[in-house]
Amino acid sequence: MSTNSKRRLSLIAIAAGCTLILQLLNGCKPNDKAFSGELAYKHVEALVNFGPREPGSQSIIKAQNYIEKELNEFGWKIFRQSFSDQTPQGEKDFVNLRARFSSGDNDIDWKDGGGKILVCSHYDTKIMESINFLGANDGGSSTGILIELGRVLSKNPNRASRIELVFFDGEEAVVDFTAVDGLYGSRHYAKYWRSAPQEKKPVAAYVLDLVGDKNMRIDPPIDSPPHLLSQLYKASRQIGKKSLFGIHPTPITDDHVPLNAAGIPAIDIIDSAYISGGKWHQEGDNMDSISSQSLNLIGDVMLQIIENSISSN
Ligand SMILES: [Zn+2]
Repeated sequence: MSTNSKRRLSLIAIAAGCTLILQLLNGCKPNDKAFSGELAYKHVEALVNFGPREPGSQSIIKAQNYIEKELNEFGWKIFRQSFSDQTPQGEKDFVNLRARFSSGDNDIDWKDGGGKILVCSHYDTKIMESINFLGANDGGSSTGILIELGRVLSKNPNRASRIELVFFDGEEAVVDFTAVDGLYGSRHYAKYWRSAPQEKKPVAAYVLDLVGDKNMRIDPPIDSPPHLLSQLYKASRQIGKKSLFGIHPTPITDDHVPLNAAGIPAIDIIDSAYISGGKWHQEGDNMDSISSQSLNLIGDVMLQIIENSISSN
């Protein structure tokens, strides 16, 4: 056999080998590892179908059980942080859900957040007497994204073990935001970390809020920690969506505030224009107003931020 024929045969063998590998890869459904806006949308729909998720209501208990069941399926363990607090309508019960990934029977040390990255959402809806407020965008969108992130992260246990998913109750003010009305869940959660030694505190927190509107754009508050803002912009450039990310000219009251005050650098990834544009806390905040594309975009940005943060240390 001539050298040329041998070379041709080995090229054919290599080509056949490559085809086989590609077929095997397709069999493994590589898209399983990608964030699905459609799956996140279905989670939002399930939450909205429970009805308004007011603190202490039957609907919010259904939402808690749903979040726990979905995440358990992908290897996450849930710690329910229950507490009561005084509100302008008297004492109310609240439950924050903390989720961490655990691949074995190892006990999770919930008091040690060292090296952990927090990805947070509130899952309650505002109590509104005059309208049936469903909170598909406000409370729903970010929660659906966190559940879907739980599925995707579980495919990479090392990465998942660096994350805590936090679902805050009582973000909404019972009347209006003041130092003692609103942010009930994040204030309680932050209290837990305030006195912790620095090395036991989580290293960063990303709070998602109002991240599902069809015309979503993200403008975090002006006083965001600069390094977290740079990370967000870098990730948005990497996924080719930088034009949708800017800055809001003032501070914003949201769940990132108590975390920052407790010494955990926290950024609010929020559609500020949704508030200023008059869509906030309206009956129109339903499934028709949100899109799986917006949910997908935020899921992709979060995965990119997590990948960048974990590969850099
Ligand atoms: Zn709200």
